[in-house]
Amino acid sequence: MTSLKDAEYIKAKNRVVSIIKKLRVQIPRKIYDLSQAGLSEVRNDVFENKPSERVVIILRTNGCSWSRSSGGCSMCGHIAEHALWEKFEPELFVKQFSHEYSKYNFSYYPTLCLYNNGSFLNERELPLEARNKILDIIAKNDNIKQFIFETRLEYVTPENLADIKKRLNGKKVGVAIGLETLNDEVRDLCINKGFTLKQFEDKAKVVSEILNLRTYVLLKPPFLTEKEAIDDAVQTIKYAQNILKADSVHLEACTVQDYTLVHYLWNRGVYQTARLWSIIEILKMTNNIYVSPFRYLPLPKRVPHNCDKCTHVITKKVLKDYNTSLDLSVLSDLSCKCKQTWVDSLNEKAVSPLSRRINLILDELEINHL
Ligand SMILES: [Zn+2]
Repeated sequence: MTSLKDAEYIKAKNRVVSIIKKLRVQIPRKIYDLSQAGLSEVRNDVFENKPSERVVIILRTNGCSWSRSSGGCSMCGHIAEHALWEKFEPELFVKQFSHEYSKYNFSYYPTLCLYNNGSFLNERELPLEARNKILDIIAKNDNIKQFIFETRLEYVTPENLADIKKRLNGKKVGVAIGLETLNDEVRDLCINKGFTLKQFEDKAKVVSEILNLRTYVLLKPPFLTEKEAIDDAVQTIKYAQNILKADSVHLEACTVQDYTLVHYLWNRGVYQTARLWSIIEILKMTNNIYVSPFRYLPLPKRVPHNCDKCTHVITKKVLKDYNTSLDLSVLSDLSCKCKQTWVDSLNEKAVSPLSRRINLILDELEINHL
């Protein structure tokens, strides 16, 4: 690596982080009822190879520690819906959970996903006392066959996983972690994720030895062309399945949420969410992938789409018909005039290396927005 390339890389990285941090401080202070969860709803799913539905509950906390300390990931706007300045007593999290939990008859929903838009295993986000009380409630419910939580990898230890396994004795437990991409440079420069592939591999091993690994793969981080994004997602999915031996892999298509780098770029015309055709292409090139519905807290301003004519139908085909069957044949007869535009867009060329491309894009934005 030449010193010139080093300087270019460091410059690109510093600029990306600087924009992310500037956007975060613009988040307005909101008042929340701290005893109320952020969101709960039923989502489509496949469980034991059959169409199914799962309950998703998102707890309101002080927000993701990674987002608070480093600005966080370039596409993630979750922090804007969290109580950043309030003090939570552990009991408030149990209240939030119990209130939402009591709304559902789990004899219809074998899977419960409990998220906190951060790390379930980070005791600064969710105190151990609250975590344990919530797990004990779940353990008593025989209708819940599978429990899924999300965490960043730095909070994963053999001890905390073994403890959860013991508390939920007999239930299938999935640990969902965003790998996003196989490519260290894309993960660092385009996403600001904060870990390397090697670090992920080490923790993935720990998870798989004790519980089940669910890997999130990001489709279309900023600064990549549509074709690069498809190739990156396909390679990452194959790696997660074949090398990491992930129990399940979810394709998370990037959306546009407020106060994010992605929103900043989208607003200035240099970012577009992926086309639905790209998602279908990825599904055809892989196996057994679930497509995460484009629903996040706060709700995105823009999600993957095609033209106005086919977006609604194709979104439903993917998120409902495909997601409850993982059967590609439900996507086989889809066509629309806009497909050719998408095919043409795959020829788009971009500057390499990535660090130079990022600097050029940001230079142009600075000139145009002075
Ligand atoms: Zn169309």
